[in-house]
Amino acid sequence: MIAKNRLIPREIIIYEAILKRLPLNHPRKAEFENKLSLKRAGYKGEKELDYHISQIDHSKLTILHDLRIPYNDTHFQIDTLLISNSLIIPVDSKYYAGTLEFYPEFNQMIQYLNGNEKVYPDPILQTKIQARQLKAFLKSHQFSSPPFEPLVAITNSQALIKNPTQSNEVSQRVFKSPGIFYKIVPYLEKYQKEILTDPDLKKIVKLLLRKHTPYLPNLKELPYSELQKGVECPACHAIGMERLHSQWGCRKCGFTSKDAHVAALKDYFLLYGHSATNSQLRDFLGISSIHQTRRMLSKLDLNTSGELKGRTYTPGKTFSLWD
Ligand SMILES: [Zn+2]
Repeated sequence: MIAKNRLIPREIIIYEAILKRLPLNHPRKAEFENKLSLKRAGYKGEKELDYHISQIDHSKLTILHDLRIPYNDTHFQIDTLLISNSLIIPVDSKYYAGTLEFYPEFNQMIQYLNGNEKVYPDPILQTKIQARQLKAFLKSHQFSSPPFEPLVAITNSQALIKNPTQSNEVSQRVFKSPGIFYKIVPYLEKYQKEILTDPDLKKIVKLLLRKHTPYLPNLKELPYSELQKGVECPACHAIGMERLHSQWGCRKCGFTSKDAHVAALKDYFLLYGHSATNSQLRDFLGISSIHQTRRMLSKLDLNTSGELKGRTYTPGKTFSLWD
């Protein structure tokens, strides 16, 4: 049973909004493009792993994708969590390219890519740390834990995994996404003793879902004064559509739209915070009339608070910023 699906990471949605509004030759364009492409690659790898997991008979497993749980002034993140009554398997996904050599005795992994050598922390150790944090978290909520068997999925199909010291740890815990079935079955067979009752398992899943806190990138360092304001043309992507009568017109390609402002409003809430006044939104959309703006906003699912000039708008339930 899948108790939590994987959604598009919020970072991807935020980086897309930033890139849309950074001027073409802005010095930080490459930095955000790089962040976005790394996140997209990781997400693609995770979705592929999800597919292989969905192919396994998971009638005895509860699956939670993409968890981030606050614990002890920090957060721990688990890409995929498989829970049964007798076993917990956290799976960490790594979208690394090139040749990957694992050295668990020194807690490191070396990546060889395009003639370069780069050292990373050992992913096995990382997933073990996450498992330990989850165990402590469950204990702090009075749950006894079944055994943990953390795994590492290398989700880039082009990567070459090497285990130069022939460590059992590596051969038992590291795998390519299509091999997940053969990694987890031995553990499912090994641990048959039920530690968690069905109601406890349900309570744990509910607790994890309640505590999940999606990661949001810190936007304090954004070059706000350089971000382009205005409504984007859905046809040619030029920013700065004009509001004429009851529709938007593109000065560049002539395209007209009745609702192009909706995407711009989402960008505003994503980049400037989840609350805005009429005048802030007018400035962002490039409209001069207070009344026209108020009319336009009243047709959308936005919550309002305060009156007149102090009235603020926040996204309502169906005005989702994240899909
Ligand atoms: Zn256009």
